[in-house]
Amino acid sequence: MTATTMQFGEPAPSLDERVLPPLRQDLRLIRDQGGRRAGEWSGSWRIHDPAAQRFFAIDQDTVSMLAQWHEGTVGALRQALLRTAGHAPDDQKILMLIDFLQRHELLAPQPVDTYARVRQQRVGQQRSLTTRLLHSYLFFKVPLARPDAFLRRTLPWVALCFTRTFWLMVALLAALSLYLVSRQWDAFLHTFPDMFTATGLIAYGLSLAFVKTLHELGHGYTAVRLGSRVTTMGVAFVVMTPILYTDTTDAWRLPRRQRVLIDGAGMAVELVVAVLATLAWVFVPDGACRNVAFALATTGWVLSLAVNLNPLMRFDGYYLFSDLIGIPGLQDRSFSMARWWMRERLFGYGDDQPEPTYGHTRILLIGFAYATWIYRFFLFLGIALLVYHYFFKILGLFLFAVEIGWFIVMPIWREMKVWVRRRHEAGRQAFVTLGVLGLLAALLLVPLPYTVRIPAVLTSTQQAPAFAPRPARLDAVRVHQGQTVRAGDVLMALSASEIEQQLVGARERERLINERLDRRSADRKDLSESLTLAREAQLERDRAAGFERERDRLAVRAPMDGVVVELALELSPGRWVDEKTRLAIVAAPGRLEARGYVHADDLRRIREGDTGQFVDEQRLEPARAIQISRVGAAANDTLDNWLLTSGYGGEVSARQFEGRLRAEQAVFEVAADVTDSSRNASPLTELRGEMQIRGEPISLAVRLLRRVASVLLREAGA
Ligand SMILES: [Zn+2]
Repeated sequence: MTATTMQFGEPAPSLDERVLPPLRQDLRLIRDQGGRRAGEWSGSWRIHDPAAQRFFAIDQDTVSMLAQWHEGTVGALRQALLRTAGHAPDDQKILMLIDFLQRHELLAPQPVDTYARVRQQRVGQQRSLTTRLLHSYLFFKVPLARPDAFLRRTLPWVALCFTRTFWLMVALLAALSLYLVSRQWDAFLHTFPDMFTATGLIAYGLSLAFVKTLHELGHGYTAVRLGSRVTTMGVAFVVMTPILYTDTTDAWRLPRRQRVLIDGAGMAVELVVAVLATLAWVFVPDGACRNVAFALATTGWVLSLAVNLNPLMRFDGYYLFSDLIGIPGLQDRSFSMARWWMRERLFGYGDDQPEPTYGHTRILLIGFAYATWIYRFFLFLGIALLVYHYFFKILGLFLFAVEIGWFIVMPIWREMKVWVRRRHEAGRQAFVTLGVLGLLAALLLVPLPYTVRIPAVLTSTQQAPAFAPRPARLDAVRVHQGQTVRAGDVLMALSASEIEQQLVGARERERLINERLDRRSADRKDLSESLTLAREAQLERDRAAGFERERDRLAVRAPMDGVVVELALELSPGRWVDEKTRLAIVAAPGRLEARGYVHADDLRRIREGDTGQFVDEQRLEPARAIQISRVGAAANDTLDNWLLTSGYGGEVSARQFEGRLRAEQAVFEVAADVTDSSRNASPLTELRGEMQIRGEPISLAVRLLRRVASVLLREAGA
């Protein structure tokens, strides 16, 4: 009997004279068949209420009291128990039993109080219309038939199915069909895509209804054959999904082995259908018939094996499991054990164990409850999400909330109300729980230092590239990486043969003109021509000087004072270079800068002036202290810092678009100065790594809330 709170209506003195209200005549006491294992669960008693199809678990003391109930008064009952059992129960136990019998309507109706009590019961049962509506959206049952007589009449027709020969045949056929299908396995799998058409889905719907009807008949016939009654068959709606059911509650009184047979009968029928349909698929030619066979085969195999066998939902698998391990009423008992166990662990109320089980059985009961709770939590969450996406926005959101509320929040809420109500009963264990809870809360609420990581590149603040002045041949590289240079110093010597040729040509022309000039000088008549020749000679001299200057200028020179930080690869003498290729980079020593892209989510956590450090990718250099000098005001569309993009091994996901690199998500440019006093004298170029900025401390709870809020906003806006 469950612990109950109760109000005592009358004072105790006259208790011995109190008349015991007579019990209903149709009640039966049943002893559990299963679970008589070595010293564990030594069987228990149940009251069977056939009118309401209910069972009440009761303990040994209650059984003794009920056995002496005919004594008539409380006093006589106590005397009888003293005689037979050697000890009498206390008053409270007797009063609780009377209260229990009253509340569950197990007492014979009294002419006086019947009407009043029935009305009271009604009022107690009445719930608000909305609650009833909500509940019927989630679950309601429609009994369709009272099939008992029909099943009994037609039982001879299916007698064949209960023979050993029949099942031997089925086993042989199953082996045969699986073998044949395995030889056409590809063709079998290729039927699947065909089924996702309108006709295919109709075929599935119809075959599902057909298979499920046979399934329920399987339960029904087996129950009737084993001598049990089948009160109703019907359809239950779980979250608007129809599920057929067969009420075989009466089978409680059967031995465990027979109950297992009833539980498994539905699945057995489905498997028989699957075997026959699989065989049909093998032999029937392509077409509608073959598709139906395929639908029957797959629904049978998949549903019976995958869905029905699952013991964590209250389908056949559950009852099968419960009867196989010999623990009737497994779910209720395991739930109350698990609840008791949790309360003891959390608060140490010191309650008695709900039932005397130890060892493996206890672990099984508690483990089963937790497995079921975790499984159903995710299942209902999944169904709720499905419902949310299936219906239009507002209704979907509403139904989602209803489901989450009913199946997940309400049970937790009810349990927590118990904790609040029983707060004064808590034992020492509660301090440990509160301590752990406090720690968790602190972890959630205390703002923790939070490091914002920004992919970045470390470069010199001042740096300049060096180019060739014009296309030319590389003659020699005059510097090495890390060498200090002054502006104008030659980094690489170049030569261009066309300049040489033009120079030679100009000099040759000048020599020829000079020769003519020398010869003409004797001839006075040519004086005027001499002036012209002299001018031409001067022109060629100037031209040659120009080519010489150009030849001297032809070199890669340092654009500024600094250090050569990078030389282009493959600079072998004799190679041709053009004026667009960056041949070297010279950087001013001293000041370094980190530049990178911050994700929009982290943008609010950093601001100009924040400090942190730059750590290079390979952790080759010591970390350098940095201070943010600039945060971009607008999101960067084009990413100039290609070294940071995903295509080049960086962390900023980007893609090529019309010849430019575009960020996949909104990113903002961030620049930071290196403030380290022990900074490396030799500047670097393009060292990839990340800025680690100590952003404002933030608690885990706030981070979670912001994440949830952003998801909600997105869903609401979509
Ligand atoms: Zn079933």
